Amino acid sequence: MDALPCLLEYSPEALTELVTGLGHKAYRATQLTEWIWKHRAADFESMNNLPPDLRQYLAEHFSLRPLTVVEVNQSAVGATRKFLSRLADGHLVESVIIPAAQGNGGAQSERLTLCVSSQVGCAFGCKFCASGLLGFTRNLTVSEILGQITAAEELAGERIDNLVFMGMGEPLANIDNLLAALTLIMHPKVLNIGARHITISTSGNVPGLRRLAEFNRPIRLAVSLHGASDDVRSRVMPVNKKWPLSQLIPALQSWRRTAKHIITLEYILIQDVNAALPEAEKLAALAASLHAKVNLIPYNKVEGLPWQRPTEEHCRAFCRVLVRHRIPVTMRYEKGHDINAACGQLRLRREGGSAGA
Ligand code: SAH
Ligand code: SF4
Repeated sequence: MDALPCLLEYSPEALTELVTGLGHKAYRATQLTEWIWKHRAADFESMNNLPPDLRQYLAEHFSLRPLTVVEVNQSAVGATRKFLSRLADGHLVESVIIPAAQGNGGAQSERLTLCVSSQVGCAFGCKFCASGLLGFTRNLTVSEILGQITAAEELAGERIDNLVFMGMGEPLANIDNLLAALTLIMHPKVLNIGARHITISTSGNVPGLRRLAEFNRPIRLAVSLHGASDDVRSRVMPVNKKWPLSQLIPALQSWRRTAKHIITLEYILIQDVNAALPEAEKLAALAASLHAKVNLIPYNKVEGLPWQRPTEEHCRAFCRVLVRHRIPVTMRYEKGHDINAACGQLRLRREGGSAGA
C-alpha cells in the first residue's frame, strides 16, 4: 500500500480531463473508467487495451486500492459480516455487510446493505456510542468511502444494493467528501446506486443538513434523536448543546419540505436515561410535527460503558405509546451483535485503538 492518490476518487469526467491532458484521446478515459468500475481492475498492467505509456504513467502516479481488508468477522446469526480495513496511513475503519431477504411470495431474493464509515473515530462524543469513545482522528477521503463499497463487493462476490452511513463517524461533519462520494456512488458509470437506496444517518449537524438539502437528491435521512427534550438529549449527546432541538427541528422541517422522503428518527432505548413512558409521549409529538417515522433501537451493550437496555416488555410498552399516537414505528433488533457489528458497537479492538498497525 502506498500513499499515491487513488483513482477511485476521479469521476469519469475527471478521468477524461486527466487522460486528454496527458495527450491521449478521450475514448481512452472511457476504457479506463470501464477497467476501474466495470472490471474492477486491481492493477494497471491488466488494462491491456490501454497504451503501455499511459499504463506506466498511471501506475507511477496513482493507486487503485485506497484500503486493504485485514480482518473479516462473520456473525453466527444470519450472514452479517463485519470487515476491518487498513488505510494507507495505517488507520483502521470498519464496515458491515448486512443481507436482507427481499420480495414477496415465491420470488425471494437477497439484497445486500452495506453500513459504511465516514470518519476514523468521531468528534461528537455521544455517551452511549463506541465510536464516540474513540475520539476523532480524521475524515475519510472520497476514495476511502468508495473503497469500502468496492471491498464489500469483492468480499461478497456481488453488488451492494443499499448503503447506510451508520458506521463510524458523523457523515455530515465530513460533508465535502460525503457529497463528492455520493456523486460518484450515484454516477451511472461508477457505482450506479440510486439516491433512494442511500441513507445518511446524522446526530443532528445543522449546517451539514443544509448542505445535504442543497445537494437536492432524494437521499434518505435518518436522525439520531435519542431524546425528545433538550434535557434528556443533552445528557447523552453533547452535540445537542451546539445544535439544540430549537435549531435541529426547524432544519428537519425545511429538509422535509424539500426532500421527497419522510425522515426516520432513530431512538435508542436506554434504561434510566430516555426510556420512561412520558418520553414516548414527547417523542410521538415531535415525530407527528415532522411527519416522521420512528425507529426504536434497544441499546446495544458497549464494553466499558455503563448503559443498559430496558427489558423487552418495557421496550414494547414504549413502542405501544407511539402506535397509539399513530406514529409509524419499527423496533430494530440488531443483526450481528455477537461480532459487535450492530449500530454503535463499531469500535476497533485491534492493537489498542484506531491508530492502526
Ligand atoms: N454519526 C451518525 C451515524 C453513525 S451511528 C449518527 O449518530 O447518526 C449509527 C446509529 O447507531 C446512530 O443512530 C447511533 O446513535 C446508533 N448507536 C450508537 N451507539 C449505539 C448503541 N450502543 N446501541 C444502539 N445504537 C447505537
Ligand atoms: Fe458520533 Fe454518531 Fe457515535 Fe454520536 S452516535 S458519537 S455522532 S458516531
